[in-house]
Amino acid sequence: MHVPLVVLGGGPGGYAAAFLAADLGMAVTLVERDERLGGTCLLRGCIPSKALLHVGRVLAETREMEEWGVHFPRPTVNVDALRARKDKVISTLTGGLGQLARRRNVTIVRGNARFTSPNTLEIAAATAGGASQTLTFDHCILASGSRPARIPAFDIGSPRVMDSTGALELADIPESLLVVGGGYIGLEMGTVYAELGTRVSVVELTDTLLPGADRDLVKPLQQRLEKLFEKIHLRTKVVKLEDAGDSVRVHFDGPDGPSVREFSRVLVAVGRRPNSDGIGLESTGVNVNAKGFVEVDDQQRTADPHILAIGDVCGEPMLAHRASHQGKVAVEVLHGEPAVFAPRAIPAVVFTDPEIAWAGLTENELAVSGRVVEISRYPWAASGRAHALGRTDGMTKVLVDPETDTVLGVGIVGPGAGELIAEGVLAIEMGCSARDLMESIHPHPTLSETVAFSAENYFGLATEIYRPRAEAAK
Ligand code: FAD
Ligand code: NAD
Repeated sequence: MHVPLVVLGGGPGGYAAAFLAADLGMAVTLVERDERLGGTCLLRGCIPSKALLHVGRVLAETREMEEWGVHFPRPTVNVDALRARKDKVISTLTGGLGQLARRRNVTIVRGNARFTSPNTLEIAAATAGGASQTLTFDHCILASGSRPARIPAFDIGSPRVMDSTGALELADIPESLLVVGGGYIGLEMGTVYAELGTRVSVVELTDTLLPGADRDLVKPLQQRLEKLFEKIHLRTKVVKLEDAGDSVRVHFDGPDGPSVREFSRVLVAVGRRPNSDGIGLESTGVNVNAKGFVEVDDQQRTADPHILAIGDVCGEPMLAHRASHQGKVAVEVLHGEPAVFAPRAIPAVVFTDPEIAWAGLTENELAVSGRVVEISRYPWAASGRAHALGRTDGMTKVLVDPETDTVLGVGIVGPGAGELIAEGVLAIEMGCSARDLMESIHPHPTLSETVAFSAENYFGLATEIYRPRAEAAK
């Protein structure tokens, strides 16, 4: 069969691309090996983790209410019901995607695809006994995503050693859990299990949790996690895992020397690898870099004129919203529009408690580039709403170009930071000045005010913060 456009992969990159192509009147075929659409994000990533984090937050609030004089009896968790409710969220959303695909006349082909030439895919049947088929195409948008990175030495054949997919299955609420990797997944899933009652420890190779995030944003999270988790081991390596029957024996090597401990389960969350191998890219003109990412230009074109690539398979940050935006750009390019993927800000959100979010320039990047910017922080201890919520541990900051007052970056730590950062994205994309942020009337009392107030503070004019005249008023 010959098709004009095939999208390989039905994750947030692939289905966004296929749906836009259909909306623009293009005939589109989507190949997906999974039974359901949604990819990593919907089936085993963003959505199930956020459903479980929601439950974790509610459990935390029952404890936090004590200081307001409200006592809840210790909640009990029915893990089977919780798992079923989480799975219902997934099935509702993936069912919705299936309906949307049908209504748009997107042809779905189920099977495992592999390039056999720059414009041919062999698609192995997804079910035993099913027929494989050959698809030739004018263009392919490669959206094959990523998978958990594995550490071969940790493959000890024990079901107690999990990756993020296993952790999200929620087989049980283990008595203890070791999370290897203090990144996005480790801290989000560690939070889920800790709130459900598991004694959680985290081991991180570097000297900080979330090495990609600014230190001042990580600090309030780390302080809270030090209370929620049993132990956080930084600058520590897991040397060996051993199957000890109903536990896993873990050998550590850290600043205090070697040690050994047993855990009911271990979650390995040390990053993700692009799905660029095993799909026949060597039969095409596509270039793959040393880290396994497919190389693309700002129109998502690979070195092969037939093939574009989007999402996790073509680089970092591996985030769903980046994948879907790149998918739309790729389709617009094929539709003949002068589209490019050149965002000023791709927001990042870690959905822990407190949440951490940033967009645009970060302080970590400044350290490398040496660029001169002014940073204005607004501590949530000065926010009335934060006091009313009992959450004064937050902070909002803006990174501003002192020459032009243009907002270059926004960073937020605190509950709801993931929602609040959207304003920062808009400000950066629209080239707003700090004055624009300051003079836009924000509703009171809300945490969104902290974005405007951090801009006020840049001018030394924040109502709730006193700065002596000498250093105030630009
Ligand atoms: P994917 O979603 O990985 O989809 C690729 C699809 O291609 C899959 O369905 C796969 O089955 C299919 N495929 C691959 N190879 C073939 C083949 N040869 N033949 C046929 N089909 C194939 N991101 C966020 O932005 N926010 C979050 O909160 C967030 N939370 C996450 C939590 C977890 C636990 C994890 C693991 C990830 C999370 N992410 C989050 C990252 C997000 O899931 C990914 O960035 C996103 O799914 C990437 O989309 P994609 O379309 O590029 O690839
Ligand atoms: P990550 O890159 O965020 O974190 C991995 C961590 O493991 C790093 O801190 C790294 O220093 C550490 N590490 C690496 N090797 C180690 C080892 N041998 N021992 C101990 N620590 C080690 O990766 P992740 O948490 O696996 O998540 C993968 C990707 O998925 C993220 O980078 C992100 O793109 C995406 N994701 C996003 C969200 C979100 O948007 N909220 C949530 C989950 C995942």
